[in-house]
Amino acid sequence: MPVTVKTFQALSEAASALSSDRAARYLGGGTLVMRDLNEGDVSMTTVVRATDRSLQTIDGSGARVRIGAGVTFARVLAERDLGFLHPAARSIGGPAVRNMGTVGGNLFAPAPFGDFTVALLALDGLVAVQGGFGLRDMPLEEFLQSRDRQAGALVVAVSCIRPASADAFRYRKISRIKPKGGSVITLAAHVPQSGGRVTGARIALGSMAPTAIRAKGA
Ligand SMILES: Cc1cc2nc3c(=O)[nH]c(=O)nc-3n(C[C@H](O)[C@H](O)[C@H](O)COP(=O)(O)OP(=O)(O)OC[C@H]3O[C@@H](n4cnc5c(N)ncnc54)[C@H](O)[C@@H]3O)c2cc1C
Repeated sequence: MPVTVKTFQALSEAASALSSDRAARYLGGGTLVMRDLNEGDVSMTTVVRATDRSLQTIDGSGARVRIGAGVTFARVLAERDLGFLHPAARSIGGPAVRNMGTVGGNLFAPAPFGDFTVALLALDGLVAVQGGFGLRDMPLEEFLQSRDRQAGALVVAVSCIRPASADAFRYRKISRIKPKGGSVITLAAHVPQSGGRVTGARIALGSMAPTAIRAKGA
Protein backbone atom coordinates (compact mmCIF):
# COMPACT_ATOMS: atom_id res chain seq x y z
CA MET A 1 0.00 0.00 0.00
CA PRO A 2 1.48 3.39 -0.97
CA VAL A 3 2.23 5.85 1.84
CA THR A 4 2.33 9.61 1.26
CA VAL A 5 4.95 11.60 3.17
CA LYS A 6 3.99 15.22 3.86
CA THR A 7 6.63 17.60 5.23
CA PHE A 8 5.65 21.02 6.64
CA GLN A 9 7.71 23.87 7.96
CA ALA A 10 4.90 25.39 10.03
CA LEU A 11 3.68 23.54 13.11
CA SER A 12 0.10 24.68 12.51
CA GLU A 13 0.07 23.14 9.01
CA ALA A 14 1.53 19.86 10.26
CA ALA A 15 -1.03 19.83 13.09
CA SER A 16 -3.96 20.35 10.73
CA ALA A 17 -2.64 17.68 8.34
CA LEU A 18 -2.61 15.29 11.29
CA SER A 19 -5.99 16.20 12.74
CA SER A 20 -7.80 16.18 9.38
CA ASP A 21 -6.72 12.66 8.36
CA ARG A 22 -7.40 9.67 10.60
CA ALA A 23 -4.91 7.59 8.62
CA ALA A 24 -2.07 10.10 9.15
CA ARG A 25 0.67 9.59 11.73
CA TYR A 26 3.43 11.90 12.79
CA LEU A 27 6.98 10.69 12.19
CA GLY A 28 9.40 11.50 14.99
CA GLY A 29 12.57 9.41 15.01
CA GLY A 30 10.57 6.60 13.42
CA THR A 31 11.83 3.79 15.67
CA LEU A 32 8.23 2.63 16.15
CA VAL A 33 6.46 4.17 13.12
CA MET A 34 8.91 2.72 10.59
CA ARG A 35 8.71 -0.67 12.26
CA ASP A 36 4.90 -0.58 11.88
CA LEU A 37 5.20 0.51 8.23
CA ASN A 38 7.74 -2.20 7.47
CA GLU A 39 5.47 -4.77 9.08
CA GLY A 40 2.67 -3.72 6.68
CA ASP A 41 0.47 -1.59 8.99
CA VAL A 42 -2.29 -0.54 6.57
CA SER A 43 -4.01 1.79 9.05
CA MET A 44 -1.41 4.43 8.11
CA THR A 45 -1.58 5.97 4.62
CA THR A 46 0.05 9.34 5.35
CA VAL A 47 3.17 10.18 7.31
CA VAL A 48 3.47 13.78 8.52
CA ARG A 49 6.76 15.52 9.36
CA ALA A 50 7.49 19.06 10.59
CA THR A 51 10.77 20.94 10.31
CA ASP A 52 10.07 23.89 12.65
CA ARG A 53 13.20 24.61 14.70
CA SER A 54 11.31 24.67 18.00
CA LEU A 55 11.03 20.87 17.75
CA GLN A 56 14.82 20.67 18.13
CA THR A 57 15.32 23.37 20.77
CA ILE A 58 16.49 22.76 24.33
CA ASP A 59 16.03 25.59 26.82
CA GLY A 60 17.48 24.88 30.23
CA SER A 61 17.82 28.48 31.40
CA GLY A 62 14.77 28.70 33.70
CA ALA A 63 13.52 26.71 36.69
CA ARG A 64 11.75 24.45 34.17
CA VAL A 65 13.71 22.73 31.42
CA ARG A 66 12.00 22.73 27.99
CA ILE A 67 12.96 20.09 25.44
CA GLY A 68 11.69 20.08 21.83
CA ALA A 69 9.71 16.96 20.91
CA GLY A 70 12.16 16.13 18.12
CA VAL A 71 15.20 16.04 20.43
CA THR A 72 16.81 12.60 20.45
CA PHE A 73 18.07 10.76 23.54
CA ALA A 74 21.61 10.98 22.14
CA ARG A 75 21.25 14.78 22.22
CA VAL A 76 19.90 14.73 25.77
CA LEU A 77 22.98 12.72 26.73
CA ALA A 78 25.24 15.26 25.02
CA GLU A 79 23.81 18.14 27.12
CA ARG A 80 25.74 18.44 30.37
CA ASP A 81 23.02 20.74 31.66
CA LEU A 82 20.49 17.89 31.47
CA GLY A 83 22.58 15.55 33.63
CA PHE A 84 19.62 14.71 35.89
CA LEU A 85 17.86 13.18 32.83
CA HIS A 86 20.88 11.17 31.64
CA PRO A 87 20.05 7.95 33.55
CA ALA A 88 16.61 7.90 31.90
CA ALA A 89 17.97 8.68 28.40
CA ARG A 90 20.76 6.12 28.80
CA SER A 91 18.28 3.39 29.78
CA ILE A 92 16.54 3.52 26.39
CA GLY A 93 17.41 0.84 23.82
CA GLY A 94 20.91 0.65 22.34
CA PRO A 95 22.92 3.40 20.60
CA ALA A 96 20.93 3.17 17.33
CA VAL A 97 17.59 3.66 19.13
CA ARG A 98 19.02 6.53 21.21
CA ASN A 99 20.32 8.20 18.03
CA MET A 100 16.88 8.09 16.37
CA GLY A 101 14.28 7.93 19.16
CA THR A 102 12.83 11.23 20.34
CA VAL A 103 11.45 12.65 23.55
CA GLY A 104 8.10 13.32 21.79
CA GLY A 105 7.79 9.78 20.41
CA ASN A 106 8.45 8.36 23.87
CA LEU A 107 5.18 9.90 25.13
CA PHE A 108 3.27 7.62 22.76
CA ALA A 109 5.38 4.46 23.16
CA PRO A 110 3.30 1.57 24.52
CA ALA A 111 4.39 -0.37 27.65
CA PRO A 112 7.00 -1.72 28.29
CA PHE A 113 8.40 1.36 26.51
CA GLY A 114 8.04 5.00 27.55
CA ASP A 115 10.89 5.06 30.09
CA PHE A 116 11.85 8.72 29.58
CA THR A 117 8.22 9.71 30.10
CA VAL A 118 8.33 8.12 33.57
CA ALA A 119 11.12 10.52 34.55
CA LEU A 120 9.19 13.49 33.13
CA LEU A 121 6.06 12.46 35.03
CA ALA A 122 7.94 12.45 38.34
CA LEU A 123 9.34 15.88 37.48
CA ASP A 124 5.92 17.49 37.03
CA GLY A 125 6.05 17.27 33.22
CA LEU A 126 4.05 19.52 30.92
CA VAL A 127 3.34 18.77 27.25
CA ALA A 128 3.10 21.58 24.67
CA VAL A 129 0.50 20.47 22.14
CA GLN A 130 -0.22 22.20 18.84
CA GLY A 131 -3.80 21.74 17.71
CA GLY A 132 -6.33 23.61 15.62
CA PHE A 133 -6.79 25.85 18.69
CA GLY A 134 -3.13 26.90 18.76
CA LEU A 135 -0.36 25.92 21.18
CA ARG A 136 -1.19 25.00 24.75
CA ASP A 137 0.54 23.36 27.69
CA MET A 138 -1.17 20.48 29.42
CA PRO A 139 -0.02 18.44 32.43
CA LEU A 140 1.72 15.24 31.32
CA GLU A 141 -0.48 13.24 33.69
CA GLU A 142 -3.62 14.52 31.94
CA PHE A 143 -2.02 13.97 28.51
CA LEU A 144 -1.25 10.32 29.33
CA GLN A 145 -4.74 9.67 30.71
CA SER A 146 -6.23 10.79 27.38
CA ARG A 147 -3.39 9.59 25.16
CA ASP A 148 -5.61 7.63 22.78
CA ARG A 149 -7.55 10.82 22.07
CA GLN A 150 -4.30 12.76 21.45
CA ALA A 151 -3.57 10.69 18.32
CA GLY A 152 -4.26 13.62 15.95
CA ALA A 153 -2.36 16.19 18.00
CA LEU A 154 1.18 17.41 17.39
CA VAL A 155 3.45 17.52 20.44
CA VAL A 156 5.90 20.40 20.10
CA ALA A 157 7.84 20.16 23.37
CA VAL A 158 7.89 18.83 26.90
CA SER A 159 9.04 20.63 30.02
CA CYS A 160 9.89 19.51 33.52
CA ILE A 161 11.26 20.77 36.83
CA ARG A 162 15.01 20.84 37.31
CA PRO A 163 15.62 19.10 40.68
CA ALA A 164 17.13 21.45 43.26
CA SER A 165 19.85 18.90 44.09
CA ALA A 166 21.17 15.64 42.66
CA ASP A 167 19.84 13.83 45.76
CA ALA A 168 16.27 15.01 45.12
CA PHE A 169 15.74 12.87 42.00
CA ARG A 170 16.36 9.17 41.39
CA TYR A 171 15.59 6.98 38.35
CA ARG A 172 15.81 3.18 38.03
CA LYS A 173 14.79 0.84 35.23
CA ILE A 174 14.63 -2.86 36.05
CA SER A 175 14.92 -5.20 33.06
CA ARG A 176 15.63 -8.89 32.66
CA ILE A 177 18.10 -8.38 29.80
CA LYS A 178 20.95 -5.95 30.41
CA PRO A 179 21.88 -3.38 29.26
CA LYS A 180 19.02 -2.76 26.83
CA GLY A 181 16.05 -4.98 27.63
CA GLY A 182 12.44 -3.86 27.94
CA SER A 183 11.36 -2.58 31.34
CA VAL A 184 9.90 -4.89 33.98
CA ILE A 185 9.34 -1.81 36.09
CA THR A 186 10.67 1.72 35.74
CA LEU A 187 10.70 4.03 38.76
CA ALA A 188 11.36 7.73 39.03
CA ALA A 189 11.13 9.67 42.28
CA HIS A 190 11.38 13.39 42.86
CA VAL A 191 11.62 13.92 46.60
CA PRO A 192 12.49 17.54 47.35
CA GLN A 193 13.34 18.46 50.94
CA SER A 194 12.97 21.71 52.77
CA GLY A 195 14.17 22.20 56.37
CA GLY A 196 14.57 18.41 56.78
CA ARG A 197 11.03 17.69 55.61
CA VAL A 198 9.92 16.16 52.32
CA THR A 199 7.62 18.50 50.43
CA GLY A 200 5.74 17.73 47.20
CA ALA A 201 7.14 14.24 46.49
CA ARG A 202 6.22 12.74 43.13
CA ILE A 203 6.83 9.07 42.33
CA ALA A 204 6.12 7.68 38.86
CA LEU A 205 6.03 4.10 37.60
CA GLY A 206 6.42 2.63 34.13
CA SER A 207 5.29 -0.80 32.83
CA MET A 208 2.66 -1.04 35.58
CA ALA A 209 -0.19 0.18 33.31
CA PRO A 210 -0.66 1.02 29.60
CA THR A 211 0.98 4.41 30.25
CA ALA A 212 3.26 5.77 32.95
CA ILE A 213 1.35 6.39 36.19
CA ARG A 214 1.94 8.19 39.47
CA ALA A 215 2.13 6.33 42.78
CA LYS A 216 -0.03 8.86 44.59
CA GLY A 217 -0.55 6.73 47.69
CA ALA A 218 3.21 6.73 48.33
C1 LIG B 1 14.92 -2.16 19.46
C2 LIG B 1 14.11 -1.13 20.23
C3 LIG B 1 14.38 -0.91 21.56
C4 LIG B 1 13.64 0.04 22.27
N1 LIG B 1 13.92 0.21 23.61
C5 LIG B 1 13.23 1.15 24.30
C6 LIG B 1 13.49 1.35 25.68
O1 LIG B 1 14.36 0.71 26.29
N2 LIG B 1 12.74 2.27 26.34
C7 LIG B 1 11.78 3.02 25.72
O2 LIG B 1 11.15 3.85 26.35
N3 LIG B 1 11.50 2.84 24.40
C8 LIG B 1 12.20 1.94 23.68
N4 LIG B 1 11.91 1.73 22.37
C9 LIG B 1 10.77 2.43 21.79
C10 LIG B 1 11.10 3.75 21.07
O3 LIG B 1 12.33 3.67 20.39
C11 LIG B 1 11.18 4.95 22.02
O4 LIG B 1 10.07 4.93 22.88
C12 LIG B 1 11.25 6.28 21.29
O5 LIG B 1 11.26 7.34 22.21
C13 LIG B 1 10.11 6.52 20.31
O6 LIG B 1 10.38 7.76 19.69
P1 LIG B 1 10.39 7.95 18.09
O7 LIG B 1 10.73 9.37 17.85
O8 LIG B 1 11.26 6.96 17.41
O9 LIG B 1 8.88 7.65 17.77
P2 LIG B 1 8.19 7.38 16.36
O10 LIG B 1 8.40 5.97 15.97
O11 LIG B 1 8.55 8.43 15.39
O12 LIG B 1 6.67 7.61 16.81
C14 LIG B 1 6.06 6.81 17.81
C15 LIG B 1 4.62 7.32 18.00
O13 LIG B 1 4.64 8.64 18.53
C16 LIG B 1 4.00 9.54 17.63
N5 LIG B 1 4.79 10.78 17.66
C17 LIG B 1 6.14 10.89 17.61
N6 LIG B 1 6.51 12.17 17.76
C18 LIG B 1 5.37 12.88 17.87
C19 LIG B 1 5.09 14.28 18.03
N7 LIG B 1 6.05 15.21 18.12
N8 LIG B 1 3.78 14.65 18.11
C20 LIG B 1 2.77 13.75 18.02
N9 LIG B 1 2.98 12.42 17.87
C21 LIG B 1 4.26 11.99 17.80
C22 LIG B 1 4.02 8.86 16.28
O14 LIG B 1 3.00 9.30 15.42
C23 LIG B 1 3.84 7.42 16.68
O15 LIG B 1 2.48 7.13 16.94
C24 LIG B 1 12.63 0.79 21.63
C25 LIG B 1 12.37 0.58 20.26
C26 LIG B 1 13.10 -0.36 19.57
C27 LIG B 1 12.81 -0.58 18.10
